[in-house]
Amino acid sequence: MIPVASFAGRKVALFGLGGSGAATARALLAGGAEVAAWDDSEAARDKARQTELPIIDLAKTDWREFAALVLAPGVPLTHPEPHWTVKKARDAGIEIVGDIELFCRERRALAPGSPFVAITGTNGKSTTTALVAHLLREADRDVQLGGNIGTPILELASPSAERVHVVECSSFQIDLAPSLDPTIGALINLTPDHLDRHGTMENYAAIKERLVARSDIALVGVDDEYCGAAAARLAEKKSAGRPRLVTISARPSRSTDVFVEDGAIVMRDRRGGDIMIELASAKALRGAHNAQNAAFAAAAARELGLTFPAIAHGLETFPGLAHRMEQVGRIGRTIFVNDSKATNADAAEKALLSFSDIFWIVGGKAKEGGVEPLRPLFAKIAKAYLIGASSDAFAETLRGSVPFERCGTLEAATAAAARDAAASAAPEPVVLLSPACASYDQFVNFEARGDKFRALVRELGVTQKDINAHV
Ligand code: ADP
Repeated sequence: MIPVASFAGRKVALFGLGGSGAATARALLAGGAEVAAWDDSEAARDKARQTELPIIDLAKTDWREFAALVLAPGVPLTHPEPHWTVKKARDAGIEIVGDIELFCRERRALAPGSPFVAITGTNGKSTTTALVAHLLREADRDVQLGGNIGTPILELASPSAERVHVVECSSFQIDLAPSLDPTIGALINLTPDHLDRHGTMENYAAIKERLVARSDIALVGVDDEYCGAAAARLAEKKSAGRPRLVTISARPSRSTDVFVEDGAIVMRDRRGGDIMIELASAKALRGAHNAQNAAFAAAAARELGLTFPAIAHGLETFPGLAHRMEQVGRIGRTIFVNDSKATNADAAEKALLSFSDIFWIVGGKAKEGGVEPLRPLFAKIAKAYLIGASSDAFAETLRGSVPFERCGTLEAATAAAARDAAASAAPEPVVLLSPACASYDQFVNFEARGDKFRALVRELGVTQKDINAHV
């Protein structure tokens, strides 16, 4: 834990006790602050009371006694309308901050030069953050990984000169971190998302851009309009000293500092010569979208002093993240891929683009538009196996274009897809769970759906070994 000493001896209001909120409250208490914590949910308050956090009804408190409101990132700061605690804080004229901001203040006090990598973007944040941490760990660096992925930032170990903090930041967290000043800031890509919480695309993009604006080194994608504009603005600022801009493209774009060409990341060595890092052997980083993530991770690792062979080794050994095109097994020629995180057509598209001879398990609680946007990729699908509430609608879309079977459950679909894949003539058939749907009709969440698929594949593998043993 990183005790937050910047509010020692002062009173702080803290709202939002799910997720990172409780960790933030503990860090503030450990640093000597007096905390008044609250949540609109009674269950969250009860849970916090059990861990002895001071629960005080902020609706009935005099806000003039607080030095700040510490807000959980899930709580609306501006849209659709400011939360009632935000209004109270504004009326009292106190600052509103989140856990990343508290970390930045502690870092500046404890170890201002300590390496701090902060990563954001609309897509690929978790993959890139986990990959940067993996590259550094494989090179024997002392690494702390957290933020919007896994461990809340204030539960990590304290910053120190040799320790690298690699932190994923959501737009909500950046919005609550006015002095965010990483050593390396990465802005991967920007497409419309969370506009209900940020009002307009311009506002959302401006918040994301703040992560790189105050960094020492800014890694910025140039493949979409909004990131491209952010890079151009930073390039203008470059003459003023900070940040140093590194442009990155997932396309063969020779005018950028780091780019992807013919399945390799191309970077420049100290003498300006091209260095190629092949991605073919990075099995967990298939697809153009992952090439973008890999290019960012490689650039960050390079800035932190890793050698090109060390980066290549780390990309090769990256195990990937659970539920994101995660290879969970191989039986004979067939590979089984768990992409349960693909809860909409956009995400499923990335997986369909990354494979051929696909035996596709699809369905659940459908999003608007269903799988119609994926029609250009239907030719890659050998057969579809329909599960969940969307079965009727998806059958209509697929009819006449893709052979399909209504399976109902994930169990039936996995068994049928494995059977057909084994019987196919394809050199490497892929049984792909990439549902393009939310999971709530049949599972608690996408993790439970992916875990179930992994277990089913494991059972199939065991059965297969038994059969082989008896032949
Ligand atoms: P995030 O943390 O930003 O949600 P993840 O790394 O968890 O991103 O990836 C989630 C999904 O987003 C992946 O399964 C994939 O479909 C898609 N994705 C990942 N990286 C990218 C990228 N660079 N560009 C576009 N889509 C991506």
